Amino acid sequence: MTHWAHVVLVGYGEVGTKSSSVRAKMEARLRTNLQAVLDDRSLAGTVEGEWSRILVRDVNDPDAVAAACAEVPGIVWARPAIACEPDLDEIVAVCRELAADHPAGASFAIDGNRTGERESDEFSGSDIEREAGSAVIEETSAAVDLDNPDRTYRIECREKEAYVSTTRFDGPGGLPLGTQGKTVALISGGIDSPVATWEMMRRGCEVIPVYIDLGDFGGADHRARAVETVRTLARRAPNFDMRVHVVPAGDAIDRLVETIDDTRMLTLRRMMFAIGAEVAADEGAHSVVTGEAIGQKSSQTGANLAVTAAAIDYPVHRPLLTWDKTDIVATAREIDTYTDSTLPVGCERVAPSYPETNASLAAVERAESAELFDLAADAARNRDRV
Ligand code: ATP
Ligand code: MG
Repeated sequence: MTHWAHVVLVGYGEVGTKSSSVRAKMEARLRTNLQAVLDDRSLAGTVEGEWSRILVRDVNDPDAVAAACAEVPGIVWARPAIACEPDLDEIVAVCRELAADHPAGASFAIDGNRTGERESDEFSGSDIEREAGSAVIEETSAAVDLDNPDRTYRIECREKEAYVSTTRFDGPGGLPLGTQGKTVALISGGIDSPVATWEMMRRGCEVIPVYIDLGDFGGADHRARAVETVRTLARRAPNFDMRVHVVPAGDAIDRLVETIDDTRMLTLRRMMFAIGAEVAADEGAHSVVTGEAIGQKSSQTGANLAVTAAAIDYPVHRPLLTWDKTDIVATAREIDTYTDSTLPVGCERVAPSYPETNASLAAVERAESAELFDLAADAARNRDRV
C-alpha cells in the first residue's frame, strides 16, 4: 500500500503513427504543452514520458489533472489511475480499493493487459482479468457485463509498474500544438470563428488571432467578445502567445461603404483576407483561417467563397466548410466559447439591401479600387496587440 501513487495516464493517437524521429519530437512537444497547462492552472503534476506513454506523477487532484490534459490538442484520452508494483497481488489489492466506490448496481468489466514481461513473471493478462474480476465480485457482488459495462477496471501491467483506473476523460485528438506551423485566424467573436480557430489548434497549428475593428460598423462590444473567445482558447495553449492583433479598419470600411454597393460584402471579405495576408507575411504564417461554412449566409455561397479566396495568394482555410450550424454550436459549447450571440455583428450592418450571392470575380474586381486595399494594408500595419 505504501507504494501506491496517484498518477494520470495520457494517451495520444495520431502521434503514435509517425516515424520514430517525428514521433519523438511530437511527444516532447506534447509533454511541454501538457506541463504548461498544468502549471498555468496551478495543478500539481510532473509530466513524464517514455516510448508511447505519457504519465503525470506527483498529482494531488487526479480528476482535475486528467480533465485538464483532456483539453490539450493531440490527446485522445486521460485516465486518473493508481500506480503500483507490477505484481498480481498488488494489482488485485488496488482493484479491491477502487471497488470501494463502485456505484450500487453498476455492472462491470475488467480489461487487463500485460506488456514487457520478465522471465520471473508467472502471470499473464488473462490471469490479471480473472483474479481482479473475482476480487471486484467479492467486494461488490456486481454483475459482469463484457459488452456494455457501467464501469471498466482497466489494468495495464508494464515492466516496472502497473496502473489501474476506472474513469476516462476523452480528449480532442489531433496533433500537438506547435508542430504544424502558424496560421492567421480571423476572429469576429461570433460563434463560428472561434470553433474554426480551435479546429486549427487541434490539428497542431499555432494561431495568430486577428480581430478587425470595423470602426463605426463594429464597436467595443464586438472586440471584447472576440478577445474573450481567444482568451478561452488560449487556456489550452498557455505557452503560446495568443494576444489578439486588433486592426483599426474603420477608415477602410467607411470608404468601402461609400464606393461599393451590391458586391460590398464580397469586397469586405476580400479586404479582411488582405489584412490577414499582411499579418501572415509579418508573422511567418502559412495560411488564413475563417469560420465560413458553405451556404451559411449570402457571402458564403460556393461561388462567393471562391471569389473572396481569390483576393490573396495565401490559402484560405475554412475548417467548418461542411459543418451544420447545430454541430458548430455544439462544439462551441464544448470548448466554452459559446457566448450570447444576440448582439448584431458589425458586418451585417455593413450589408447592402440586395447582397450579391453569385458574383463573378470580374464583376467584383471591376467595382473595387486599389485605394481600398491600400487602406486595408495601412490598417494591418497599424495593428495593436491586446
Ligand atoms: P462568426 O460567427 O465567426 O462571427 P459569421 O457567421 O458572423 O462568423 P461573417 O460575419 O460572414 O460570418 O464572417 C465570416 C468570417 O469572416 C468569420 O467567421 C471570421 O472568420 C471573419 N470575420 C468576420 N468579421 C470579422 C472581424 N470583425 N474581424 C476578423 N474576422 C472577421
Ligand atoms: Mg458564420
